[in-house]
This record gives sequence, C-alpha cells and structure tokens, in this order.
Amino acid sequence: MSAGNIFMVVAPSGAGKSSLVNALLESDRDILLSVSCTTRAPRPGETDGRHYRFLSVDTFKQMRDNGQLLEWAEVHGNFYGTPRDIMDRALAQGQDVLLEIDWQGARQVKKHFPGAQGIFILPPSIDALEERLRQRGQDSEQVIARRMLAAGGEIAHAPEFEYVIINQEFSVALSELKRIISAARLRFAAQALRHAALFAALGISQDSGN
Ligand code: GDP
Ligand code: ADP
Ligand code: 5GP
Repeated sequence: MSAGNIFMVVAPSGAGKSSLVNALLESDRDILLSVSCTTRAPRPGETDGRHYRFLSVDTFKQMRDNGQLLEWAEVHGNFYGTPRDIMDRALAQGQDVLLEIDWQGARQVKKHFPGAQGIFILPPSIDALEERLRQRGQDSEQVIARRMLAAGGEIAHAPEFEYVIINQEFSVALSELKRIISAARLRFAAQALRHAALFAALGISQDSGN
C-alpha cells in the first residue's frame, strides 16, 4: 500500500478551480475527487452525486450531527461539507484524493491531516474574476454580487496555503497543477512505500526522511 496524498484546491468563486480540477482528472486517473455535500441548488448541467450531493438543509444537518462530515462550512449562504466515508476509503487504500473546498474547510482538514497540501488558485485580477463569473452564465446577478463581495476575504487566506497558482493562461495553470501533484508523489515517504523492496535492497531505512 502507498501513502495517499490529500490535495485541497481552494479559490474564490470564478477563479477557475473546477475547470482546472476537471481537466486534471481527465488526464490523471489516479486521483479520486471528493464529491462534497451541499445545500445549494444545482446549476444547469450539474448532476447529483457527480458535481455534488445536493441535500436539504435538514439532511445536511443530520449528516453533520451524526459525524458523517469530515469538515463543513457555510459559504455564500449555503452549507458545504466533505463526506467522511469517501476520504476514509481512499486513504485506507493509499489513494490520492483531491478536495475542492473553501479556506475554512481546508483549515479543518489540516487539523485532521497535517500532511494535506493546500493549493490556492488566484485570478489574474479582480476584474477577470467578475468577468469569468458572468461568462460562466450560471449564477444570478445577486449571486455574482455576493461572491464578488466575498472574494477579497477569501483571497486574504492565500498565505495559509503551500502552493499558489495564478490562473491567467489556462494551459499554464493546468501544467503547474500537474507539476505540484507529480512532485508530491516523489516525496521520500511515498517513494519509500512504493519502492519498498528497492529501498530495502539499497539499505535505505524506511523511517528516515519525510
Ligand atoms: P465555485 O466557487 O464557483 O466553484 O462554486 P461552488 O458553489 O461549487 O462552491 C462554493 C464554495 O464552497 C467554494 O468555496 C467551494 O470551495 C466550497 N466548497 C465546496 N465543497 C466544499 C466542501 O466539501 N467543504 C467545504 N468546506 N467547502 C466546500
Ligand atoms: P470556480 O470553480 O473557481 O468557481 P470555474 O472553473 O467555474 O471557477 O471557472 C469560472 C469561469 O472562468 C468558467 O466559465 C471557465 O470556463 C472560465 N475560466 C477558467 N479558467 C480560465 C482562464 N484561464 N482564462 C479564461 N477563462 C477561464
Ligand atoms: P459553488 O457554489 O460555486 O459550487 O461553490 C462555492 C464555494 O463553496 C467554493 O469556494 C467551493 O470551493 C466551496 N465548497 C464546495 N464544496 C465544499 C465543501 O465540501 N466544503 C467546503 N468547506 N467548501 C466547499
């Protein structure tokens, strides 16, 4: 079994987080996406179980109170949370898992899993962020205004993250995201588990290094 990595991708709404994550998952079959629970209404084209598990506020609170969520937060007036079962299963199998969550959730995950790696996606400018939210064409003016108001406060949390990607040119940002993932897989602990026999043959102690 190998040690699975936990990647948390965080960004203000419209920075391109979902587009980058979706493109990454198309070329990398070894990462499992944690599908969050939310009380937000589905956008056109979003399907239950794939983009989110869309829940009523009552069901969400039940799950939360039963300890079924690893973390949860209220974001832009809706509840969002990470189901514990998917994470537990992925980690038991040594699988890499990626969470698309907000900064509040990232803090909670770090408490449970200090090795979780945070990647913050920045827009090239505030104007570009607003333009992308409009271009996406899936949120009302009111929702866009609310998200733009929240953006500054979310961006202020970027220093809490290990990595920062500026999503100006999409292909550049995507390749940067892939490089972060590749580097994590080459860390000593992951390599020592993956190549245990070689490490033993070369006389490298398993518990040295990080
Ligand atoms: P987006 O920002 O345009 O991708 O809009 P979404 O409605 O998909 O997400 C709203 C916010 O909720 C974002 O900041 C997400 O990162 C955050 N979010 C999504 N899933 C989770 C989760 O499971 N836990 C937490 N804490 N936040 C989440
Ligand atoms: P988030 O998940 O962070 O809210 P999305 O992935 O939904 O953001 O992206 C918001 C909008 O911006 C989408 O319409 C997407 O196609 C567009 N977009 C994403 N990255 C770029 C980029 N580098 N340049 C221009 N538009 C982009
Ligand atoms: P959206 O409504 O645009 O899909 O998401 C809005 C925000 O909620 C985004 O910042 C997104 O990352 C965050 N979010 C989505 N799922 C979760 C989750 O499970 N937990 C937390 N904490 N935030 C989430």
